[in-house]
Amino acid sequence: MPQSDHSTSFPSRLVGQYALVTGASQGIGRAVAIRLAQEGATVAINYLGSPEGAEETLALARTASAGRGHGEIDHIMVKADVASEQDVGAMFETILSRWKRLDCLVNNAGFQRESPSEALDIETYRRIIDVNLNGAVLCAQQALAHFVARGGGGSIINCSSVHQIIPKPGYLAYSISKGGMANLTRTLALEFAGRGIRVNAVGPGAIDTPINAAWTGDPQKRGVVTSHIPMGRVGTPEEIAAVFAFLASDDASYITGQTLYACGGLTLFPEFRDNWAS
Ligand code: NAD
Repeated sequence: MPQSDHSTSFPSRLVGQYALVTGASQGIGRAVAIRLAQEGATVAINYLGSPEGAEETLALARTASAGRGHGEIDHIMVKADVASEQDVGAMFETILSRWKRLDCLVNNAGFQRESPSEALDIETYRRIIDVNLNGAVLCAQQALAHFVARGGGGSIINCSSVHQIIPKPGYLAYSISKGGMANLTRTLALEFAGRGIRVNAVGPGAIDTPINAAWTGDPQKRGVVTSHIPMGRVGTPEEIAAVFAFLASDDASYITGQTLYACGGLTLFPEFRDNWAS
């Protein structure tokens, strides 16, 4: 069964931490913002476009903090297109002038489009790489500059995917962006390990969020998806958020440069469940 309500049993490992979650107006980003707040962090909820979703996340984060006895916490919303250098610069200025510090960056914003690779519109290709990969780079640069200037370390957690290592035909730009996450995570981890800065990634499998609206609400299509997952079910955003909270916490103090897959076994070559090769 999904561990959807473990809110009373998890710890408060992030008290005093200030965290930015990109793309937090819905889906995994929202669940991460709420989970970090539940564990005591103050969160900046980044959003693109209209503010309604982010406002809902903000209200849920406030309730989460209050419900766990963390009191009045200065959660904020910050609008920015993570693919825009100017927007990202302004977002960090807003956050740092208000809080004076940041401890954790969660690079979660992302999207995908399906197209036969030979017909993939180059502007769509560029936009996916710009948001999913270059956006993470732009935000990481800002966070790292701050971590280095203030000393004392920090952490970056990238939202990658099982498609960091599993090819996704028909989603060329998405596959490339998530493959790039591997070396983004590992290169920065190595470069900054000596300065107390940890850089990791989470690789979700098939998770019940709006990005998967094409099948989540259709029992037949959903059945096809779950038939491919060794654990026999789709994951919840809360299960992914729990991994982010772990990696942000001191429980992961000796972990850097890793991608932790939370995918119900999708990365285990499910085709080999039953022997066919020998
Ligand atoms: P989602 O569509 O629900 O959420 C994506 C969020 O990113 C939205 O809030 C959207 O507004 C935001 N966003 C998109 N472009 C942006 C931009 N330019 N600037 C700022 N924000 C932007 O999808 P999700 O499933 O919650 O996806 C979150 C992350 O998880 C993505 O990086 C996605 O690739 C990854 N992921 C999801 C799954 C899954 O099955 N849901 C699996 C593996 C990885």
